[in-house]
Amino acid sequence: MISADTIFLGGRIITVDPDFRIADAVAVADRRIIAVGTESEVRTLCSPSTRVIDLAGRTLLPGFVEAHGHPTAEMNMLGPDTVDIRASECPTAADVFARLRDAVALAAPEDWVIAFGWDPLLVPDLPEMSGRLLTELSPEIPVSVMHYSAHSSWANDAALARLGLDRNSPDPVGSAFIRSADGELTGEGREVPASMILMGPTMQARPDSFGGFLHHELHRFAAAGITTTGDLAFEATHYDAVADYMAGHDSPVRIRAYERSGAGPHIAPAAAGDSMFRKVGVKVWKDGSPWIGNIHTSFGYEDSAATRAVGVHPGHRGCSNYTAEDLLEICRTHVGDGWQIACHVHGDLAIDTVLDTFEQVMGETGRTDLRLRLEHCGAITAAQVRRAHALGVTISFFVAHIHFYGDVLRGLFGDRADEWTPAGVAAECGMPFSLHNDSPVTPANPLLNMRTAMTRQSRSGAVLGDHLRIDIRDAIRAQTIWPAWQLHSEHEIGSIETGKFADFVILDGDPLTTDPAELDAIGVVETWIAGRRVDAVHDVAGIGP
Ligand SMILES: [Zn+2]
Repeated sequence: MISADTIFLGGRIITVDPDFRIADAVAVADRRIIAVGTESEVRTLCSPSTRVIDLAGRTLLPGFVEAHGHPTAEMNMLGPDTVDIRASECPTAADVFARLRDAVALAAPEDWVIAFGWDPLLVPDLPEMSGRLLTELSPEIPVSVMHYSAHSSWANDAALARLGLDRNSPDPVGSAFIRSADGELTGEGREVPASMILMGPTMQARPDSFGGFLHHELHRFAAAGITTTGDLAFEATHYDAVADYMAGHDSPVRIRAYERSGAGPHIAPAAAGDSMFRKVGVKVWKDGSPWIGNIHTSFGYEDSAATRAVGVHPGHRGCSNYTAEDLLEICRTHVGDGWQIACHVHGDLAIDTVLDTFEQVMGETGRTDLRLRLEHCGAITAAQVRRAHALGVTISFFVAHIHFYGDVLRGLFGDRADEWTPAGVAAECGMPFSLHNDSPVTPANPLLNMRTAMTRQSRSGAVLGDHLRIDIRDAIRAQTIWPAWQLHSEHEIGSIETGKFADFVILDGDPLTTDPAELDAIGVVETWIAGRRVDAVHDVAGIGP
């Protein structure tokens, strides 16, 4: 009989298996789980060389799974060269501009100051951002600022000049450079492709620093207890660099990549990687962000200070990035090739189109096995959730909106705030769904997501839609086995069952017995991947320039 490399005992083990069994001990050999059960059962697998980990009353769960992250983007957005102006770092406009001015003052002429996290909603005293404002701040040195959502950014004249952009520059596909009435670029980019261009080359790791950036970034996930993350805007040009990193390092986190639609060249399914890193699908953006006014809804913004902070007029409605015909063509191509689609979509009108498209494409291709995904779904209706479930379409909810933006949601959308990200409807109809943070939009924090989905509480404690609360078991599933299923990985991760990889998170509290409002106070003590303990994030060596 095989003997265990490591056994864990002395605490509660929440297996998240189909029976939601609680076990006393788990044994690991050669990266995988070989037994789950009572302490005496598992001890029979011990040899003299077996390492025994005493949980000392702590709780062990499957490593958390982030269904919708952006590790290869966040590693740049919050890389060593970025000025972090997120509301969590800079709560007032004075803080934001102090950081920007300091960075400009310290910059050399050849530098480029990049800042991430502009957030006029959560920092209400910020002025209206524009390229002109940044040119006044820095006439000579290029400065680019990205909105918190990454769906919008602004560049000063010096940055536009260095990028070689002018009135004749075409809009990147699926996005736009905003122009004045006379056709000149204003310095504003809307939607991800244009926004990324305006941020310039500094917001990209160089080939020789890519591995260091990614290593640092993945430890950020590991510190939150995450052992697998989706990468929902993967650049095809990054395959080799990520594969090299995985081959050369002990990665703390698995990555499941969704390539940008139309980004090509697309790798074949057979060459799609291994258990640490592989492509599982394709990402499409149907609309944008409620915080910048470009989600495609049947209803308009309210007349409120929050709406003015977004920079749109009362009654404003956003529109889609693609027509129904364009979306159909994109989905036909990728589903026909056998790829899952993950579609960013918030507005109810956009969701109707995506569901129509998914239904048609599944009918045409017969591919009902791909687990097509809707991402975020702020303004999805209960009827749309039920329709998605009936079609076999699954949802990843951006429930962190309720926590971070819950206090402004009612100002933006009135009573619809109480229906925002209705995970409770998905739970009710039996859909395997997930919760996510979309970091860097919000910091990766599964326990906070679980708390939010269970309490529907904003930061101030206001409750939005208590009829949409989910229970603790579904909250745990929505950060473990269900996102594993969405990532086509439930055969290898997501629960503590014999044969799966030994990916664990050890917590200093038991979520099953903790007051839901206190879930985010539970500490992540250790993270293990494939039977190996991940070094604490503060132990990671410096990542260099
Ligand atoms: Zn995203």
